[in-house]
Amino acid sequence: MTDPAASSSPSINIVGAGTMGSGIALAALYAGFRVGLFDVSGQVLEQAEAYLTRHLERKDQLHARKQLSLSTSLKALPPADLWLEAVPEKLDLKLDVIAQVENLAGDEAVIATNTSTLSVTALAAAANRPGRVVGMHFFNPAAVLPLVEVVRGAASDPSAVERALAIARALGKTPVEVADSPGFIVNRVARPFYGEALRLLGEGAADVATIDLAVESVGFKMGPFRLMDLIGIDINFAAASSVFEQTFYEPRFRPHPIQRQMVAQGKLGRKTGSGFYDYDDGSTEAEPVVWPRAGGLGPVAVEGRVWADGLRARLAEVGFELTDDWSQAAAGFVVAGSEQDPAGLLAQAERRLPAGLPLFVQANDVALSQVELELESDRLVAFDAWFVNEARSLSLIAGQALDGQVRQRAEAVVTALGRRPLWLPDSPALILPRIVGMLVNEAAFTVGDGVAEAATVDRAMQLGANYPHGPLAWGQRLGWDKVVRSLDHLRAEYGEERYRVAPLLRRWARRKQQLA
Ligand code: NAD
Repeated sequence: MTDPAASSSPSINIVGAGTMGSGIALAALYAGFRVGLFDVSGQVLEQAEAYLTRHLERKDQLHARKQLSLSTSLKALPPADLWLEAVPEKLDLKLDVIAQVENLAGDEAVIATNTSTLSVTALAAAANRPGRVVGMHFFNPAAVLPLVEVVRGAASDPSAVERALAIARALGKTPVEVADSPGFIVNRVARPFYGEALRLLGEGAADVATIDLAVESVGFKMGPFRLMDLIGIDINFAAASSVFEQTFYEPRFRPHPIQRQMVAQGKLGRKTGSGFYDYDDGSTEAEPVVWPRAGGLGPVAVEGRVWADGLRARLAEVGFELTDDWSQAAAGFVVAGSEQDPAGLLAQAERRLPAGLPLFVQANDVALSQVELELESDRLVAFDAWFVNEARSLSLIAGQALDGQVRQRAEAVVTALGRRPLWLPDSPALILPRIVGMLVNEAAFTVGDGVAEAATVDRAMQLGANYPHGPLAWGQRLGWDKVVRSLDHLRAEYGEERYRVAPLLRRWARRKQQLA
């Protein structure tokens, strides 16, 4: 094989011309590859040809059409540097295809599988020389999305991995190298994005629209429910089930009964016209919110800054006057963590803050019900301290005895902060600290398990899942120690293994580790 990066016309044969096969073929034609495309179905090949021609034409690249050969006979495919299978996700079928491909591919050719969920190591066992088999996991739409996870099976030769990386680059993609493991990077680290949202829904902590709103308000392009509807609830459920089974039932990956119920009802998302949202009237957009200004609400006192380090700046930015004199304040925030005796600090604040005014307490690692055991008050409002600066919504929990007028005043303060108040029942770690905290934890497990480097995990999540930040860079910014405390809080409240902290994350927290 010539070096694909250097060669003027590297070549790829693709087995299976469906969604992924045709998308990868288009990416390859755009990049100047010679492409052989095979499918058992003549009809699928015709559709693929029409799709490719249409897109090449649109990009004024119709000349690349002559680089394409289509075939309903595997044996008729020309020689190629890379043979990539993109047939349906069935182990026996893929084993059979890989064995057949090995008989046809030249000795130097790399054989790749586009599997999303199967073990590359298990698939490579179909070949007489498993060292030449790697995973190349593209994302849909393959012609558009830049990420390719190049998966190193247990038996993959380093030279085959290097070639696959080089071919991915020659395709104009951004490859990341990942060890063979369930879900690779993206389909693994993303699991809690859906899993925690489903649990919040199942527990009645918030409804679909509220959870999506909270998640989208921190920069995710789509909330978990909107995204499941787009992907297909059946596809998402299958991916969740596969990672769960392949990890021998790791509790972090347990799918949720709601998923099975939705599939049983045929509510699969956009493709069936209904899923978590109804698409008949096309109205899935949240209502726009008009923010009032802070003027007239009076000064605000803030105790502690570690848990919400930008809160003072945010308050000042929207026009609140800040005061250290609690007796003059119109509202107060206590942002101590569980290590700082929040109930003690609240008791002091409660004594000094004039009656009838709201007293906010951070609830990322402290249960409001716990605080209430030690402090009786009719003006306690728990809030999400981490995201008060960066999310456009703010999750709140009303104290059990919260006075109606104080509640209104609390809402006015939050609204004046430019945040949409989302009231939840007492729910450990609210919405965003729970979902984002678990993403950070899964990313740390992924690094700790030797699947990929930290920077690689972050890049993969941004490119492959469109996350607003790499989860590890985000975790570092939020503070490793705070992430650990929030997860420990979830673990204590639920008593579940699912919330155990990744050992690496705990070490980073102790060492105040700075990732490069
Ligand atoms: P698809 O059903 O759209 O396409 C599969 C194609 O393979 C069909 O056209 C089918 O006719 C053909 N086929 C079946 N048996 C064959 C055989 N023996 N030889 C040649 N062709 C054969 O499926 P897809 O969505 O393109 O998925 C293909 C693979 O890519 C799966 O492993 C899937 O897990 C993976 N993948 C899918 C996505 C996605 O979002 N769709 C993303 C990443 C990876």
